[in-house]
Amino acid sequence: MEDVVIVGGGPAGLTAAKTLAESGISPLLLEASPEFGHKACGELMAENLYGFSVSNFLTKGVVERVHEEIAIRFYDETFVVSRRGGRGLISKLRIPTRLLFINRKKFERGLAAKARASGATIKMGVRVFKIERGSDFLVINDEIRTKLLVGADGALSIVRRFLGLEPRDLAFAMSGRVKINSLAEEWRNLELPMLIVDPGKIADRGYGWIFPGRTEANVGVGIFDGHERFVRGLWKTFERTLGIEDRGEEPETRGAFIPLSLSRKTWVDNVLLVGDAAGMVDPLTGGGLNGALLSGWLAARVCEEAVRKNETKGTLKKYEERWKSHFLTSYLKSKLLSRLFYSFFINRKKLTSWITRHPILGGSYSSPNPHTHKS
Ligand SMILES: Cc1cc2nc3c(=O)[nH]c(=O)nc-3n(C[C@H](O)[C@H](O)[C@H](O)COP(=O)(O)OP(=O)(O)OC[C@H]3O[C@@H](n4cnc5c(N)ncnc54)[C@H](O)[C@@H]3O)c2cc1C
Repeated sequence: MEDVVIVGGGPAGLTAAKTLAESGISPLLLEASPEFGHKACGELMAENLYGFSVSNFLTKGVVERVHEEIAIRFYDETFVVSRRGGRGLISKLRIPTRLLFINRKKFERGLAAKARASGATIKMGVRVFKIERGSDFLVINDEIRTKLLVGADGALSIVRRFLGLEPRDLAFAMSGRVKINSLAEEWRNLELPMLIVDPGKIADRGYGWIFPGRTEANVGVGIFDGHERFVRGLWKTFERTLGIEDRGEEPETRGAFIPLSLSRKTWVDNVLLVGDAAGMVDPLTGGGLNGALLSGWLAARVCEEAVRKNETKGTLKKYEERWKSHFLTSYLKSKLLSRLFYSFFINRKKLTSWITRHPILGGSYSSPNPHTHKS
């Protein structure tokens, strides 16, 4: 009988596995894919968010670039949101942290190596297709018995479905890495990660992005009322906007769903949900790496306590209390902002252009790259 089985070896599951293993409890992690870091991702994360720093989970060589600012291009205007506060009121909305452009493959491999070195067993290429209840244990795929189960299996989680909870509000996004030299001149010299909001041209209810690394950039596009087929069409337009197509480079692109609403429950009896499986994503940006790490870490701490005390229900309950104290306020603010933004401001070009250009309100720049703007 296993103490803890983790389903899914993405950022949330691997963080849980590493944390548990380092505390002396050896979990079994089952990952459907044969390789780490296979999932589509923009690879940008905050260094410190929700009162939780990710530094302990980043191994050498994972961070490719560190940013203190992010540029947002709204139609033809670009403004910068920084840690120090920018030129206009909008830009004064500070980002609370440094932003890290990471290499996701290296990130997941590094976490897995640390988890294994501390005693976790990680089985790759094992898809969980069946979960059943025993008296006070669970049976996975007819053969593995476990006292506790952590669902870290992403947006379409089988563990969450086992709990009778369907995913809600799914967005869909696509991304890929391209050589910086293959971008059109206008986008090639970006110093900052950039979000591009341009309905009609990029996405009606969503945005595109360019996150520059040293030699490659991560580019992507996502929409918030996510029909996969629709985004795949948008991708072609986005590629043309960035000039990629003209240079004959066909980036390897991947797409995936992003849950924009929290799961109604994140804990039932001896089962916990973490990361995308729990819907721990910022609903304004669709960013879920920080929520994945935070929830993976919190779940592991609670599982450790439950195993040591041999007491499940009362202990696992603490998981929900803890993640709420870190994450809930920020989530609710983002939810409100996303409603305002994607239903109102995004399609009011004149109003938003006026606000972003206004010297006191927006403080925007008319060049896509504010750091090379001459005037
Ligand atoms: C295109 C795109 C770009 C994004 N960019 C960013 C970004 O820049 N910054 C950011 O913060 N967030 C970003 N996100 C969101 C981020 O990728 C997710 O929030 C994050 O990956 C969640 O981690 P996770 O471990 O919970 O789930 P996942 O990363 O989805 O990992 C789940 C794992 O479970 C495995 N699995 C699934 N089902 C089973 C099963 N039945 N049995 C065994 N294993 C299973 C999967 O193979 C997968 O490896 C992006 C998402 C997309 C789609």
